[in-house]
Amino acid sequence: LVSRKAKQTDTAIDLAGTVIGGGTPVMVAGPCSVESYEQVRQVAAALKAQGVTVMRGGAFKPRTSPYEFQGLGIEGLKILKEVASEFGLQTISEIVDPSHIELACQYIDVIQIGARNMQNFELLKAAGAVNKPVLLKRGLAATIDEFLHAAEYIVSRGNSQVMLIERGIRTYEKATRNTLDISAVPILKQESHLPVLVDVTHSTGRKEIMAPCAKAALAAGADGVMVEVHPNPAEALSDAAQQLNIPQFEQFYAEVKKSGLL
Ligand code: PEP
Ligand code: MN
Repeated sequence: LVSRKAKQTDTAIDLAGTVIGGGTPVMVAGPCSVESYEQVRQVAAALKAQGVTVMRGGAFKPRTSPYEFQGLGIEGLKILKEVASEFGLQTISEIVDPSHIELACQYIDVIQIGARNMQNFELLKAAGAVNKPVLLKRGLAATIDEFLHAAEYIVSRGNSQVMLIERGIRTYEKATRNTLDISAVPILKQESHLPVLVDVTHSTGRKEIMAPCAKAALAAGADGVMVEVHPNPAEALSDAAQQLNIPQFEQFYAEVKKSGLL
């Protein structure tokens, strides 16, 4: 169902007028984690001022260590909803438990399925059973074929509103957090009609190369770019090393736009 053979026309996902996959690439930005109402509000105000309409923010955080901040849970989704309605933004947040999928639909506009859960088949099936766009991240060590099959789980359950996001894969290279697989973008676009985005934060883990990588993603045909932004990254409860602060985001966004690709 996700293949070009099954459907020739591109799938476009309309988020209250912001269309992902409709030919105009979209910038998605926001904090790694929802930490407080005030923190999300500061980011939302900055995004709104820049003309960004889709904000991300994690409330259920799949952390490597159980001793690290695990997210605010449903309370975090409520914060997203409140801030999004104040600023007229669309929201994306990760859900990790199949039993939270339906509830999450009340608070957020896009359900994110994280890299660590790309092959959590019960979660994929639950996301396939609701009428809500899904942003599916590529697994840390998933092949493109496995990625597309994960998307197929969602679409085959009846939810055709799926977006794919390349977020870097594990290789021997240590210069970046993960290895951004740029070639996945044109391959996914050729093989599938689903929108394809690139997460420049989790793939690179390096602020100074996020703008060139975003431009590369767009040049390769990506329908959007995702980047993490925090009012005070040094104090962030997750991904402190790689979130952009607000002025850095503005500079990043300006540089990407200057390319004419966005
Ligand atoms: C995220 O986007 O918040 C995240 C945890 O990323 P990933 O699942 O790609 O590691
Ligand atoms: Mn993060």
